Amino acid sequence: MVTFLAGGTGTPKLLDGATRVWDAGDVSVVANTGDDVELGGHLVCPDVDTVLFAGGDVLDRETWWGIDGDTTETHGELRRLADEIAVDSGPRYLDDEAQTAGRAIARWRRFSAVGEFMEIGDRDRAVHLTRTGLLDEGRTLTEVTRTLADAFGLDVDLSPMSDDPVATLIHTEAGETLHFQEYWVARRGEPPVADVEFRGAEAAALTDAVRTALADPVVIGPSNPVTSIGPMLAVPGFERALRETPVVAVSPFVGDEVFSGPAADLMAGTGAEPSTAGVAESYPFADAFVLDDDDPTRLDRRVERTDTRIDDADDAERVARACERALAAVDSGGLGPDDGEVTG
Ligand code: GDP
Repeated sequence: MVTFLAGGTGTPKLLDGATRVWDAGDVSVVANTGDDVELGGHLVCPDVDTVLFAGGDVLDRETWWGIDGDTTETHGELRRLADEIAVDSGPRYLDDEAQTAGRAIARWRRFSAVGEFMEIGDRDRAVHLTRTGLLDEGRTLTEVTRTLADAFGLDVDLSPMSDDPVATLIHTEAGETLHFQEYWVARRGEPPVADVEFRGAEAAALTDAVRTALADPVVIGPSNPVTSIGPMLAVPGFERALRETPVVAVSPFVGDEVFSGPAADLMAGTGAEPSTAGVAESYPFADAFVLDDDDPTRLDRRVERTDTRIDDADDAERVARACERALAAVDSGGLGPDDGEVTG
């Protein structure tokens, strides 16, 4: 058995090859929910959905979100109506009182449907409506995710990181507080980041599904350590569970070159070095790392090297095999090629 921690791009890419290395029935995936938003009353879970759509073979693999070939009729009409009633076209975060009203899972991430700022496809929206409907019938996010996973024919086990609300909020240097999606989608990661908050995390609980998954060896695929893994680590008990099981992490950097996305800016904004060395410092519980052949970083932990760029399932399989080797070495207490050399 093996458990993968997933954001919305790197681990889903890796999973394409992981199921060639491990039996799909032995694979669990725990997905970040800090990025989730409620738009017009419908809960959108971007990282859960990327794994769901990839496993169901309907993912748009150009963007790594949404359903391939989906139409956007409803989204287009929402935008048109907003223009028609001449409202500000940006994200409309509901007022403070509304943020804690309504369904608890949507706390601190509630946006109006007016002028919908994230492009939600029509079939994609049907998933959000179904999810929200099942939540309103009284099921937990874990149960709902399992139901959707069955509907999409997933052969791996998929769970959200918690059934409680944890909202990733970006505090900017200008003193604004933005939900992560507003920062990333609407502002395109522009305002300099002063701090990142995981609101609700201290009160969030580990679910039985996550507790069980974290009892197995864990692979952290290439991920944004701040906004994909950070929310998980902020849930009490999560990091302790990782300290007690073998953990291997794939770097989302080659040295200080990030592959994609906002990881470097967010790490710099939260005081971490935006590099492989900074990722290693963020994961003190990790026993081993998979680094790119060209990554000059030397770590004081077990290191497996390969070409870590993942463009297709063969690449993903190569990186997954490096993860498997790293876990086997951790298991046997073996020394790695980079062991004993401290991060420079
Ligand atoms: P998000 O939810 O989309 O922000 O993304 P993740 O948390 O999944 O993070 C993706 C991270 O993976 C980014 O920091 C990228 O630098 C990294 N990444 C993207 N593609 C690749 C790849 O092909 N190989 C590796 N090693 N990292 C990648």
